[in-house]
Amino acid sequence: MSVSQQVFLRDAMRRLNLTRDVFAARIGVKRRALDTWLLPEGSQEARNMPEVVSRFVTEIVENEALLQKYAQSAQSGPLRDRISYNGKHQLLSVDQFSRESVEELFRIADQMQPIARRQKVSRVLEGAVLGNLFFEASTRTRVSFGAAFCRLGGSVCDTTGFTFSSMAKGESIYDTSRVMSGYVDALVIRHPEQGSVAEFAEATNIPVINGGDGAGEHPSQALLDLYTILTEFSRLGKLLDGAHIAMVGDLKYGRTVHSLIKLLALYRDLKFTLVAPKGLEMPDYILEQAGKRGHVIEQTSSLAEGLAGADVVYATRVQKERFADEQLEGYTADFQVNKAIVDRYGRSDAIIMHPLPRDSREGAHDLSVDLNHDPRLAIFRQADNGIPVRMAIFAVLLGVEGLVQHSLRDVTWNPPSHIGPDDSVFHGID
Ligand code: ASP
Repeated sequence: MSVSQQVFLRDAMRRLNLTRDVFAARIGVKRRALDTWLLPEGSQEARNMPEVVSRFVTEIVENEALLQKYAQSAQSGPLRDRISYNGKHQLLSVDQFSRESVEELFRIADQMQPIARRQKVSRVLEGAVLGNLFFEASTRTRVSFGAAFCRLGGSVCDTTGFTFSSMAKGESIYDTSRVMSGYVDALVIRHPEQGSVAEFAEATNIPVINGGDGAGEHPSQALLDLYTILTEFSRLGKLLDGAHIAMVGDLKYGRTVHSLIKLLALYRDLKFTLVAPKGLEMPDYILEQAGKRGHVIEQTSSLAEGLAGADVVYATRVQKERFADEQLEGYTADFQVNKAIVDRYGRSDAIIMHPLPRDSREGAHDLSVDLNHDPRLAIFRQADNGIPVRMAIFAVLLGVEGLVQHSLRDVTWNPPSHIGPDDSVFHGID
């Protein structure tokens, strides 16, 4: 502790606005013990308080500070105004978030869980239409955004690929965006060029969500990844502050890790170990942004080194479709996150994540299927979290988050209790 015990305790009582008696009761100790800890250092009766008490007091004070911040933010207008992009209700980058606003979004995602788990239904977006414009391959992002919108009562219109869109006839981003805005109430756009979704967003005043712009960003994926980490950590009794995160694979072109490292950097005292094949390292501009907040960032090409001590192992696919002059065909076997290496070097309470899809072709050496029955593998729980998080994004951007709670009705059909055949393996931990 850098300040004296006496100052630390006094400060805590002041911040919590509690008297000595109430404070002693709050932290579960005898008033007499507290009195001895509050005596000036060196006095005969003075005693050192146990480490566990000091940690508990720190936690209470930090929680209180967070609650105050939330209360303040509640007074400063709706979340969509606080995370707006150029004054519009659009989601282009994780840079739009602070730690407080991201946690506020997650409280809304928590409210969506009964709908995502098929226990309740809601119609708060009844009549609204979503345009899903995907000019690049997608399964999860396109379908989960669509399903999230439908589960809030809205409807979805999809278009996929350039071939079947008027862009193949030379239509500009501006024209496409403006025309679509006359048809739908929100747009989710994926496009192979970095910065292109921001161009769509400029040409309209309706909510636009970046569903992935080339090697740029994938903000909704990073939000659901962070939500997954926090959920898994609370199950494991861990805090994100002070955690060790390993990111493995194509960190150069992988947009999910670009967004995720920036979002994680909103937390405190993190250690990042970035494990990438030569030539596929994280770009400097992202490292600079994440590094500004004083986190430790180490780069290595040794997977064993990267896994050691990591609380989160985030594996990614080699983005061959974005390669310019790289010769690499995929990972060498040395980069494969598999059961043998995780058992040997990883923590027993690590969580293993991947934005998916994983490349299951021979020789790809992406995240191995031999971890499928390992409870550390969180990839399907992670993908499932795409629904509540994307519902929360829609609810916020369209301003209906306050209506959800009272709109819930019971489902009328019977969903299976475990949606995947292997889910029973994880039963009791999620
Ligand atoms: N689905 C993710 C993305 O669109 C990850 C990947 O494709 O490898 O960026």
